[in-house]
Amino acid sequence: MPSLSFETLSFNKTKTHLTITLLKLFTTKIPLEEVNAISEFTLPNPNAITFEKGTQEKIQLKFSYLLEKYFDSLTTKLTGNPATYIHKNTGIPLIGNVAFGIVYRNSSIIEIKPVTSCNLDCVYCSISEGLSSTKHDFVVELDYLLEELEKILRFVNEPLEIHIGVQGEPFLYADMDLLIEKLQPLELVHTISIDTNGTLLNKERIDRLAKCTKLQLNLSLDAIDSQKAKIIAGTKTYNVEHVKEVIKYASQKLNVIVAPVLTKGFNEDEMDKIIEFIKSLPKQPILGIQNFLHYKTGRKAAQEIPWDEFYALLEKLEKKHDIKLKLSKEDFHIRKIKPLPKPFNEGEVINATIKCPDRFPHSVIAVAKGRNISVPLCEFKKDKKVRVQIVRDKHNVFTGKIV
Ligand code: SF4
Repeated sequence: MPSLSFETLSFNKTKTHLTITLLKLFTTKIPLEEVNAISEFTLPNPNAITFEKGTQEKIQLKFSYLLEKYFDSLTTKLTGNPATYIHKNTGIPLIGNVAFGIVYRNSSIIEIKPVTSCNLDCVYCSISEGLSSTKHDFVVELDYLLEELEKILRFVNEPLEIHIGVQGEPFLYADMDLLIEKLQPLELVHTISIDTNGTLLNKERIDRLAKCTKLQLNLSLDAIDSQKAKIIAGTKTYNVEHVKEVIKYASQKLNVIVAPVLTKGFNEDEMDKIIEFIKSLPKQPILGIQNFLHYKTGRKAAQEIPWDEFYALLEKLEKKHDIKLKLSKEDFHIRKIKPLPKPFNEGEVINATIKCPDRFPHSVIAVAKGRNISVPLCEFKKDKKVRVQIVRDKHNVFTGKIV
């Protein structure tokens, strides 16, 4: 009997549908009559589907067709938001969009973004991500991301940091540990840094991750008081004691930077307590207090603290607690690297193909010459050909408008 197995998919049969879970976080469902039209089927284990009749080849073809059709209705389990799975066969490149794939800013830190979405809802979130988000989500196939990254590494051919800085919580990506493991042996990669809220880590997972000696965890910690921490995280489920344990344990095994966001009216009086906690740890991580800033797409829960006031406060805290708090570019060894060629420039009008919705409503991603172009105010129609004028091309992140 023909049988299909999947590493990234799991199946569940209900009375009316075959429910499919992709990478634990995304889901879609196919009406049973459409699956039964291929042939009667059983689920021998959660990751496999066996059909009673047909050849392996034909079953594979027909089932792949159904998957592709219903992946168009993929949603994120946490929020119910629509999502797009970007894999090798989608024809969607990994360069050109800040939300997913690879972002190359001509610096020795290359960002990779395999997933969007977050299990918190922080009041200061610079991208308004989290449980209340209504944005479109993305998830990228691991092998595709690695293949494209290796092409970039060959192009750059000098030592680099890979920064996993996703629009959301990176450890929601089911393949995250595997991704880090696969980055570890890459010769040109000297550091793998990752920004995380720490909620999905535990001692066992940290032990596994600690085998990757190039890994650096950038962990959030915004308050010591548990009620304040819940308010800042935007969810009652946030448990700061767990995150403190994660910081304590991880800092003994890995390089750790703790990065509180100082947010006026929420946590000014928590900074002393955070510093005291950091100083009490058996191995002290770096502490990098950040200033809450207003971003175009971010939450504006508080007023910004002017920079001179912010630095004066850091200086006061540095003196009071005898700790270094002001981190500079030099601390992160950032340098310029050769620019990635741009296939088109601002002002140019090009032919492109619409491939999927973009993060915000009424915006789409169009594709041309191996790049994604965000096109706002455009109706989504898959594979529609359009004429687009490039209005922004900074760092190979493109925005266009329909002409
Ligand atoms: S953990 Fe990060 S991505 Fe998630 S809501 Fe908070 S700031 Fe935003």
